[in-house]
Amino acid sequence: MDAQISFLDQLFSARVLHESGVDGIYGRSAEFEDVIARFETLALFYGKDEISEAMVFPPGMSMQDFETSGYMKSFPQLAGTVHAFCGNDHDHMGLLQCMAAGEDWSKDQKRTQVALTPAACYPLYPILAKRGALPADGAYVALQSYCFRHEPSRDPARMQMFRQREYVRVGSEDQTMAFRELWKERGQDMMKRLQLPHHVDVANDPFFGRAGKIMASGQREQELKFEMLVPITSEEKPTACMSFNYHMDNFGKAWDIRQADGSPAHTACVGFGLERLALALFRHHGLDTSRWPDGVRSALWG
Ligand code: ATP
Ligand code: ZN
Ligand code: MG
Repeated sequence: MDAQISFLDQLFSARVLHESGVDGIYGRSAEFEDVIARFETLALFYGKDEISEAMVFPPGMSMQDFETSGYMKSFPQLAGTVHAFCGNDHDHMGLLQCMAAGEDWSKDQKRTQVALTPAACYPLYPILAKRGALPADGAYVALQSYCFRHEPSRDPARMQMFRQREYVRVGSEDQTMAFRELWKERGQDMMKRLQLPHHVDVANDPFFGRAGKIMASGQREQELKFEMLVPITSEEKPTACMSFNYHMDNFGKAWDIRQADGSPAHTACVGFGLERLALALFRHHGLDTSRWPDGVRSALWG
């Protein structure tokens, strides 16, 4: 590929992604969506005999549950909340005048009960908590959600709105740790089948501010997060296409999810960044899927 033209511009000119004028907000082509759907089928095949349930969530979640998650404590810089016009006729006139004058009309928007979902597994925890104590074998849920993160970038792999396909394990420490180890192996197996260069490494989340630095190094020391890294726009800084997270009993405590014996549940999740995986495939195998290597085509198209 021509290194002079950015990968993002190549994706636009090949009409794989469609520009919106805002970095990180793109339309997707049918071909791009087809790759995602087929990757999901592959990912779902690996866990099909294990899951207890599957769910799909919309891009917004309950503001109250968002608050319970503690996201604003750790990642206020990434969060997005939904605000809406809630006024009368008079207020509406003011709004339109403000817009016509090119002024900031958003100041009169009021908060709603909706926050944009920052991570696909957040809406799951309150659902499980409401059901009462878990059965002895815990819960094993497959889910998908659009997520929002306010991190505009010209790197096509860093979008503001993107989808995560996740498997979430909720139960004892042993159950969740075994789950995460298994998926680290499966993740590597999937990458081999897709013929993508990859390696797994310990990672940390971008906790905000000065206190965040300490949290990030604690997360690394305790090996709570691993990522599957694939070069997409940079060889030196490969992109996290999957993540393997162990939250200890933090979410169990935050949402009051209990194991069968009444103790707080442990949780772990494996997240597949669907757009990132599709982009990795387009980057390494070319923008025309019909010319992808046979092995890759048979892994995805059967
Ligand atoms: P990064 O370190 O690149 O910011 P992350 O650690 O924030 O990634 P997670 O919070 O673990 O990623 O999210 C789970 C998965 O969602 C990631 O492994 C990645 O594939 C995907 N993902 C995260 N942020 C983005 C984004 N801005 N655009 C597209 N996919 C993303
Ligand atoms: Zn998760
Ligand atoms: Mg991030």
